[in-house]
Amino acid sequence: MYKSIIIGTGPAGLTAAIYLARANMSPLIIEGPEPGGQLTTTTEVENFPGFPEGIMGPDLMANMRKQAERFGAEFRTGWVNSVDLSQRPFKLQVEGQGELIAESVIISTGASAKYLGIPGEKDNVGRGVSTCATCDGFFFRGKKIIVIGGGDSAMEEAGFLTRFATEVELVNRRTELRASKIMQDRARENEKVKWSLNRTPVEVVAGPMGVTGLKVKNNETGEEEVIETSGIFVAIGHTPNTKFLGGQIDTDDHGYIQVKPGTSETNIPGVFACGDVQDNKYRQAITAAGSGCMAALDCERFLEGSITHDWSQTL
Ligand code: NDP
Repeated sequence: MYKSIIIGTGPAGLTAAIYLARANMSPLIIEGPEPGGQLTTTTEVENFPGFPEGIMGPDLMANMRKQAERFGAEFRTGWVNSVDLSQRPFKLQVEGQGELIAESVIISTGASAKYLGIPGEKDNVGRGVSTCATCDGFFFRGKKIIVIGGGDSAMEEAGFLTRFATEVELVNRRTELRASKIMQDRARENEKVKWSLNRTPVEVVAGPMGVTGLKVKNNETGEEEVIETSGIFVAIGHTPNTKFLGGQIDTDDHGYIQVKPGTSETNIPGVFACGDVQDNKYRQAITAAGSGCMAALDCERFLEGSITHDWSQTL
């Protein structure tokens, strides 16, 4: 029986852990298959305040974890298979850990960027392939960049990347774009954006120094060509990691958890959400960390008035 279980160890979960541990709430943090979250797949993080020289993503996450441990947070590794949030205390079925019980739950399982699944793509993440323009655009100053996708994310990333790139080539598998008209118009008005529509990406081409090009198939002629570039931004959407909730928590049409505006409260009292799992808009390490702090404070205040367990017998 725990006062609070935090699921997920990205910036949101670890910040919630630091706050709860420091408030003597002895939280248990469940680490999934990608400890540290999306930042562990990036290289240098230059926009997290407090690091004027930048910091490597994995180092930043390792520091946050150490900080939580310093205040007594407990970590366990395991995949959360399912949860029973129908009544308090809540029950979690965790691979390798059995059933864990908690007075409150903080969900910070993040969202996973979708990848194309083509040869050369995963091998070159951090070597020219990225799913985050805000994180990595700066590294491609003065270079040509390819953005893949035809939704609002791709339009937004393309526009943002023109700040750094000499040219941004937008590659989409169809001629029609899924993006909203206003976002399409904005991209079309941008002189630095070039369009390669009706082209299906088939392979990321790379050498010893990283990405050198993207092989695409022309869907009209069937011919293949390599577009030269050192930077490929895959912007084909994100999937919030909410499957294990089995529909018990309210989400929006895209599966993101809905929180009460200005809070981390979900539709179930005692269950809180923070980070990318509830944020389809900002998706930054610093906003995730900020929302993790909110979740910890909301959780603390909630527990102050509603503990069901006699903790004096346990602690
Ligand atoms: P979308 O699902 O809207 O678009 C995904 C794009 O990627 C589509 O063009 C799709 O092509 C393409 N795609 C998907 N899978 C593949 C694949 N395997 N190979 C090649 N191309 C592929 O995702 P977004 O992330 O763009 O947007 C998600 C939601 O977030 C939307 O509701 C959007 O409006 C919102 N959003 C809003 C923003 C804003 O308002 N500022 C910014 C970003 C997102 P196809 O069309 O052929 O399926």
